[in-house]
Amino acid sequence: VDGNAPVARILAPDCVVTPAQTLVGWCVLAGADGRCRGIVPRAEAMAYGLEVEELPRRALLPGFVNAHSHVFQRRLRGRTHHGDAGVGGGGDPRDTFWTWRAQMYAEAAALDPELLYTTARECYAEMAGAGYTTVGEFHYVHNAPDGTPYDDPLAMSRAIVAAASETGIRLVLLPVAYTRGGFDRGLRTAQRRFAFGHVEAYLRFVDDVRAMCGAAGHHVGVAPHSVRAVPEDWLRPIAEYATTRGLALHVHASEQAVEVRDTLERYGCTPIGLLARAGALGPRTTVVHGTHATEGDCRVLAAAGAAVCVCPTTEGDLGDGIAPYASFVAHGLQLAIGSDGQTRIDPFEELRWAEFSARMRYQRRSVLARGAGTGGARLASAGETLLAAGTAGGARSLGLEVGTLGDGCWADLVAVDLEHPSVKGTPPAALRDALIFGAGAGVVTDVWVAGRRIHGRW
Ligand SMILES: [Zn+2]
Repeated sequence: VDGNAPVARILAPDCVVTPAQTLVGWCVLAGADGRCRGIVPRAEAMAYGLEVEELPRRALLPGFVNAHSHVFQRRLRGRTHHGDAGVGGGGDPRDTFWTWRAQMYAEAAALDPELLYTTARECYAEMAGAGYTTVGEFHYVHNAPDGTPYDDPLAMSRAIVAAASETGIRLVLLPVAYTRGGFDRGLRTAQRRFAFGHVEAYLRFVDDVRAMCGAAGHHVGVAPHSVRAVPEDWLRPIAEYATTRGLALHVHASEQAVEVRDTLERYGCTPIGLLARAGALGPRTTVVHGTHATEGDCRVLAAAGAAVCVCPTTEGDLGDGIAPYASFVAHGLQLAIGSDGQTRIDPFEELRWAEFSARMRYQRRSVLARGAGTGGARLASAGETLLAAGTAGGARSLGLEVGTLGDGCWADLVAVDLEHPSVKGTPPAALRDALIFGAGAGVVTDVWVAGRRIHGRW
């Protein structure tokens, strides 16, 4: 008997925190199928006569969704801050994204399936312990170091799937399409590990990854790396593949000012404009970063129903810039978050830095609050938008039934410690914002995926 297998039961914390409100004395009903059956007041819950799991001095939240991860980059933590300027800057003597990329390529070159597996296992355990119950893995190191496929072409993908299964985190594997080093540039040596010769080869690879992941109970999406790394004529077949199969499509876009400038020169439009032109924007599309998105880009994204995944701690680490958050809000764009380069793995901090960096950009507060900037009555705090982005927003981005505590949603849950010094004594009505603006991953005590505990007290 698996002692951690879900049984129909009641999870009874002091309170339940959702983006909209904190409900004191409410409980979460979990089914034996690993799905939530809704939230109800304690007295009502106890009348069901189910097994009760008491969670004293705890609050329960929907699990966080990490919509954009490059797991192997966890190995770079603390090792890229010496300013090795000039390594990758194309004549730019400053330490930028491009110098960091040269260091990242060196790390990618050293990977093999075993090292990727152990790195991913540890990193996914760190994510789970921080409150992330789902990870969207944007995976691009496919080939052997000489650029040829491994004897088992899925060896690297299998390493990631095995690590996720071992950890218990929910995985959406996003095998990345990559074929060139830049708009008019062949592959650099380090990039040969990422590359496919033609788009049909990539889509056949995705077929194989889907078969493998389906057997392991994990999900798959597609991911053209960027408009730098794949040509325009790859985008449409990849988008059609995703649409006909109902898969998520993730793509880096407008992370770097140079990328936007070069795309304008080459194609006469922005990266997001090019994605639209190629039919790659739709309700299942997530643009990762959007740091340099224009007002027109935001309009195009909104019209397509596409989401934006911001990665503020990574964008801060790399000096990418600060996204136009006020425009994102004005256009009603769905936001999600990702730990991306793994400099920091903490959903509270990731969310907080979306709002904090926006405050610094615009020199005002509550940029991400619903109704912000309209001059009308303040309807909510930015904490509502942020918590929704970190949970339901990520779920939508990856096409999953997670991220809320609603009936039928997978019971992916996080418990936080109300006795933790960073939140102790907080009135219930202020708890959500105390967590988002004043706490960190250290408050997380217990984590469940599909009703099965993957972190915490056993
Ligand atoms: Zn990325």
